[in-house]
Parts: sequence; C-alpha cells; structure tokens
Amino acid sequence: MLTPYAPEPYSDFTDQANAAKYQAGLAVVASKIGERALLVIGGQHVDTKDTITSVNPSSPDQRVGAAASASPEHVEQAMDAAWKAYAEWSRRTPEERAGFVHRVGDLMLERKFELAAWQSYEAGKNWAEAEADVAEAIDFCRYYAHQALRMAEPLEVIQVDGETNTSTLQPIGVGVVIPPWNFPLAIPVGMVMGPVAAGNTVIMKPASNTPLIAWSFMKVLEEAGMPDGVVNFLPGSGGAIGDALVDHPRTRFINFTGSKEIGIRIAERSAKVHPGQKWLKRSYMEMGEKDALIVDDTVDIEAAAADAVRSAFGFQGQKCSACSRLIAFDSIHDDLVDAVVAIASKLPMGPAIENYAAGPVISAAQHRSVLAEIESGKEEAHLVMGGHPVERDGGYYIEPTVFVDVDRNARLAQHEIFGPVLSVIKVGDFDEALDVANDTEFGLTGGVYSNDTERLTRAKREFHAGNLYLNRKITGALVGVQPFGGYNMSGSNAKGGGPDYLRLFMEMKSVAERNR
Ligand code: NAP
Repeated sequence: MLTPYAPEPYSDFTDQANAAKYQAGLAVVASKIGERALLVIGGQHVDTKDTITSVNPSSPDQRVGAAASASPEHVEQAMDAAWKAYAEWSRRTPEERAGFVHRVGDLMLERKFELAAWQSYEAGKNWAEAEADVAEAIDFCRYYAHQALRMAEPLEVIQVDGETNTSTLQPIGVGVVIPPWNFPLAIPVGMVMGPVAAGNTVIMKPASNTPLIAWSFMKVLEEAGMPDGVVNFLPGSGGAIGDALVDHPRTRFINFTGSKEIGIRIAERSAKVHPGQKWLKRSYMEMGEKDALIVDDTVDIEAAAADAVRSAFGFQGQKCSACSRLIAFDSIHDDLVDAVVAIASKLPMGPAIENYAAGPVISAAQHRSVLAEIESGKEEAHLVMGGHPVERDGGYYIEPTVFVDVDRNARLAQHEIFGPVLSVIKVGDFDEALDVANDTEFGLTGGVYSNDTERLTRAKREFHAGNLYLNRKITGALVGVQPFGGYNMSGSNAKGGGPDYLRLFMEMKSVAERNR
C-alpha cells in the first residue's frame, strides 16, 4: 500500500532545529568531498581513464569530486544491460515497480539534507533552493508510483456483442535520459523514474556540471534494491557520447531537458532511422525560456516587485521558469522598477553553503556567457542595477542585473541568458502587454499581476505559456499540482509531474477475443 500523495513540505531555516539539520547534511557531504562517481552498467561500477572534474561554483579552487567519463563503447555495453534488464523489469507487476519507485522517494526523504547539501556544494544552491529541489525529487518518485498503478488499470472501451475487448498500456523499451544541471537532482529523478515506473529501463547521462549529485541519486537507487540494469549511469560529455546515445538503433525513446540548441539537434537526429532500427524513436525535448511577468496598474506594487525579484533572481535566474522579462504598464513602470531595484539590491551575496540569498552562477563558461550578454545589453537598453562580476573566493558571482527601456525585439527581450538578468519592457495597455508576452519563440512559464478579473480571464485564454501564474511568483511548480512543460521552442509540453507523463513512455495494446 502506498501512502497517499501530497507534495513534500519545505523547512523554515530560521528555525534553529531545521538549520541544525541542514548543517548536519553539510557536514556529511564535507566528509565525502573528493569522491569519484563511477559509471554503472548493469549494476557493475566501471571506472575510466578520462575524468570529469566537479568544482564548487562558490569557490572553484575547491574540487567537489570527480566522475568517470564514458565513451561510445560504454554506450554499447549500457544498451545491452538495459535491454537485458528490460526483459525482466517490464514483466514485474505494476505494484512491484511502484513499490520500488516509492521506496526511492522514501529513502531520499531520509537523506534529504545530505542530498540538498550536495547541491549547495556542487550547484551553488542556497538551502531553500536545494531543499526544494530534493523535495521535488521525492515528489516525483511518490507521484509516479501512484500514476504507475493508475496506468495499469484497463482502459475504458465499448463492448460489442460476441467479443470481449480490452485495451491496456505497456512499457516500450530502453530510453536515454539527458538532463540539465539546473535542477540537478529533481530533473534527472523525474526524467528517470517516470519511464521506469511505467516499466521501461534507461541509460542516464547526467549533466557534466553536476555529476556528484546524480551519483548520489544512483546510490539511493542501489540502496533501494533497484534491480541491476534498470537505471544505467553514464556520466560523460554530451559532445563525446550524446550522438552515440541518441543515434543508437536500439534506443526506443529519448527524454531530454536542456537548451534549445541541443534539443533541436537531438530532435533532428532522433528522427533518422538507422540500419537495424525497428521503430520510430519517441523523443521529448523540454527546452529554453524567455518567461514574462506582466504587472498592470491595479496592484500593490511592493507585492508585485517582491515576486518579480523572487522569480528573476532565485537561484541566480538559472531556472527555466525564471522571470527574464518584466512587462510593466507605463503608469506604474517607474515605481515598479524602483521597488524591484530596492529589493534586489538588498539580496546578500555569498557562498551557497553559508545560505546567502544570492550565490554564484554554475560555471566559468556560464559566468563568461552571462557577462557577455550584459555587455551587449548595454548597447541596446539602459542598465539601472548591477551588471558586474563580484570577486569573492574566485566564485562565479554576478550582481543581480536590471535593464530598463528594453525594446520588445531587442536581444535582451528575445534571447535566453539563463542568469541573473531582468529586462523591463514598458507597455501602454493590456493588449500590448499580452502581445509582447507572447512575442518570443518560447512559451514556458508566464505570469500576470492584476486585480482586474477580465484581464486575468483573458490571460488564462490568451497568454501562450504552458505554466501560467496569476498574482504570485512564476517559479516553483509542484509535482502533481502544476504539471510542468512549455509551448513552442520551450519544448514538447511533456508535462512532468502531470497525470499523463507516464503515458509518453507506454504504448497501448487492444485485444479483441471472440466469446466462446
Ligand atoms: P544543455 O547545454 O543543452 O545541456 C543539457 C544536457 O544535454 C546535458 O546533459 C549536456 O551534457 C547534454 N548534451 C550536450 N551536448 C549534447 C549532444 N550533442 N547530444 C546529447 N546531449 C548533449 O543545457 P544546460 O546548460 O545543461 O541547461 C540549461 C538549459 O536547460 C536552459 O536552456 C534551460 O532553459 C533549460 N531547461 C529547460 C527546462 C524545461 O523544463 N523546459 C528545465 C530545466 C532547464 P554536458 O553537460 O556534458 O554538456
């Protein structure tokens, strides 16, 4: 029997007892610093000559650990192991599979603060952000365990005289899971456990910025007794093994989350049928964003500004749901910008393990790329706040940055930056606000702050985003509550954490039997 599903609550870290638990998690991770993550193929740990080095973005001189780095031969071995395991895993009862998946969530709950602490060290997440990520991972396991049982129910079909007709859902085979680094536990866990709960087996290639966090997930799977080969683990650079995984004729499905550029590449490659391939691959691509929050002239400006700041600068703007465009009515624009700047400029900045509100961006490459976008932004808009790197322990810090007078077609308004940069666009009325909000190639999250019921109703219908938030922050979707996934170039609208997610990794068999 599974416990009824409800999202895992968050801790209040101003409570000393909770803070002590987080400190204890940090101490456990501190004692494991320098660990080496290995490949896991059919339950066997495999080391390699090549290595991925993982550093603490708050102080990159600190090496958090390292990971073995897979080559295309390992892809071949992992494919064999995953298909071998599929023969057995796909025949287990849905109850057995759901039991394993739920148990993984239960074990993560027991290790919640250690799993969160890894994120403070390796991804630069402060305590609340890291805990929320682990809570989401736990939620995925528990929610998908329930969904697996629901998917096992026979589907409703019409009966005709003389026959018994049934339609049931079945797993489809071996999938490749390629997650990003920004929700380094929650996203891989969701992308792996959904298909696995449905009876498939997978090969997971974690993001190269966060292999130790993914390794901590593998260790929980081992502890939960997940059968060998159900989840195979191939850390390795996307450039080195990505094509081998995607192109493989025995890859049945690809579950990707990351940038638009890599998503498009995988979509194109996965459409090609290779010699020996017996199916068209299913491929799901969840990609980038240019999320907008509209603020009109009917609201409490302070409240709107506080939620704009949370949405834009939480985890340094490195969320696919982050607010990167603030669309402000002309009449309140200046007050709103003043309020945003007043709140954002007070965010203390420092190391994630010390729980500062603002931390580093993920890597040296991301640091360079965001600063280059800020430099080019200065040519097309007016910088009112931030814009500089901050020197502390060599960490990858960038000030929360706000541009105003941003043209709706400017690069700042169209191109994903994925860092702490907010572009404010002024509009005359709600028609224009919606028009600007919808005028990018993306459509992941969006929001409206308004007390005008008619405008909110219009937004529900006309704001083209997969996740729309009214009068609140636009980040923090909860599993089972706000299924997550966008429109257009934001991706396939796979809706992770939603009731249809497992269906993406299943096919339907319909059986008609003449009555005897
Ligand atoms: P990324 O550079 O596209 O990388 C994503 C994953 O793809 C990583 O595991 C990466 O491996 C791998 N990869 C790289 N090249 C590959 C190739 N040729 N073939 C196969 N895989 C390859 O994205 P990111 O920087 O990790 O993540 C940030 C992006 O993710 C942003 O655009 C953000 O908006 C998006 N995102 C979207 C959602 C959503 O739900 N829509 C959620 C989270 C993030 P390496 O790490 O080894 O390069």
